[in-house]
Amino acid sequence: MIEACDVLVVGAGPAGLAAATRLRERGLGTVVVIDRDPLPGGIPRHCGHSPFGMREFARILTGPAYAQALADRARKAGVELRLATTLVGIDRGQPLVATVTSDAGMARLMPQRILLATGVRETPRSARLIGGDRPLGVMTTGALQLLAERGLSPFRRPVIVGSELVALSALLTCRSIGARPVAMIEADERPTTRRPFLLLPRLLGVPVRYGAALARIEGVSRVEAVTLDHADGAMERLACDGVVLTGRFTPEATMVRAAGLEIDPGTRGPSIDQLGRTSDRRVLAAGNLLHPVETAGRCWAEARMIADGLADDLLGSSQGHETPVEVQAGPGIAYVVPQRLAGSAPGMGRLQIRVGGARNGRIVVGTDDGQVAARPRARLLPERRIDMAIPALAEGVRRLRVGIEE
Ligand SMILES: Cc1cc2nc3c(=O)[nH]c(=O)nc-3n(C[C@H](O)[C@H](O)[C@H](O)COP(=O)(O)OP(=O)(O)OC[C@H]3O[C@@H](n4cnc5c(N)ncnc54)[C@H](O)[C@@H]3O)c2cc1C
Repeated sequence: MIEACDVLVVGAGPAGLAAATRLRERGLGTVVVIDRDPLPGGIPRHCGHSPFGMREFARILTGPAYAQALADRARKAGVELRLATTLVGIDRGQPLVATVTSDAGMARLMPQRILLATGVRETPRSARLIGGDRPLGVMTTGALQLLAERGLSPFRRPVIVGSELVALSALLTCRSIGARPVAMIEADERPTTRRPFLLLPRLLGVPVRYGAALARIEGVSRVEAVTLDHADGAMERLACDGVVLTGRFTPEATMVRAAGLEIDPGTRGPSIDQLGRTSDRRVLAAGNLLHPVETAGRCWAEARMIADGLADDLLGSSQGHETPVEVQAGPGIAYVVPQRLAGSAPGMGRLQIRVGGARNGRIVVGTDDGQVAARPRARLLPERRIDMAIPALAEGVRRLRVGIEE
């Protein structure tokens, strides 16, 4: 038997739940959300710290409370949540068919649209080429959060590798289990996150060491020390009993690849237009699957905008079918989202740009015939999102090039 529904949302994280709730608020009939986890909420469910929820609920919540509030709101709106249910395939024939598995076995759904909101995963040690021994106590932030959730404390004095936003989540998680990191280390000469955020390690008495790459891990059964390779060539041995690896996110895009949808080499997630539509207009994407990695609140807000475009489409309002304008990332640009602009519907409304490394200069958005469409002011630093309104384009423009003007 094959079950029909209006929209199948894959992933019950902030993006999936926000989109599904909005679709129901806009009057869509059957909106089904599946998640492979037994509980809804995505990553925040495992972040036992605040602050979450300011823009969504106008109050500060911990990650688990925020996850619960999002799920409650979705259920109240009439969203059907099916948990411990995993998407294993998308057949893009006519009709569109999704195959899912759960304890009840395999099932097939026939949605009008599929919205993928499957998030990101972190890069573990095995994929980071770190030398040395293989003792216990080396983990990603996500793995640490799973242990912390169960009241387990895998170490007392770890080193945190990285200085982006999720490194701060690692720091707060360490605090919640009574661990006090020896240091946060950053291979770059400057913090990845914005400087004000780095008041947190200072407040917690954790030194941040820049220009220090993790070269080796030492330890027989448990971590005993790490060797840092400093930018000036000096090597330093630092005693510690654990290592938390943060950052280097990869979109959870397995289903996107398996379905043969176009992947953007910059984000390694699906290539989309401003309405979140992938290379097959019936399959959309939202949340951190599109851009590793943004905060929960941002994913939530963006997913609602994508859901509005999808509701307009299914409820018969205008969508715009003009030939899409390609948005091309030039040298020095890590990625631009969305990768295409189609029609005049606002959708996400903005271009999000990230540069590959620290640079002097300005972002320039121009057309093939040399016209400058925008020159946003921004500091060009890695992992800092540059956000600009989608520029108004003249008739006949087929491509926008995003580059750096030195
Ligand atoms: C370790 C870590 C810590 C973080 N800490 C913070 C923080 O403190 N504050 C903050 O704002 N942001 C934090 N983030 C960023 C985080 O990604 C966002 O907060 C937010 O969770 C993104 O929402 P999302 O809905 O896009 O994805 P997610 O929250 O990742 O949700 C994706 C969901 O999709 C499900 N899924 C994936 N594949 C399938 C499939 N095939 N079938 C069914 N279900 C599937 C997953 O089980 C998951 O529940 C952190 C990220 C990481 C990795």
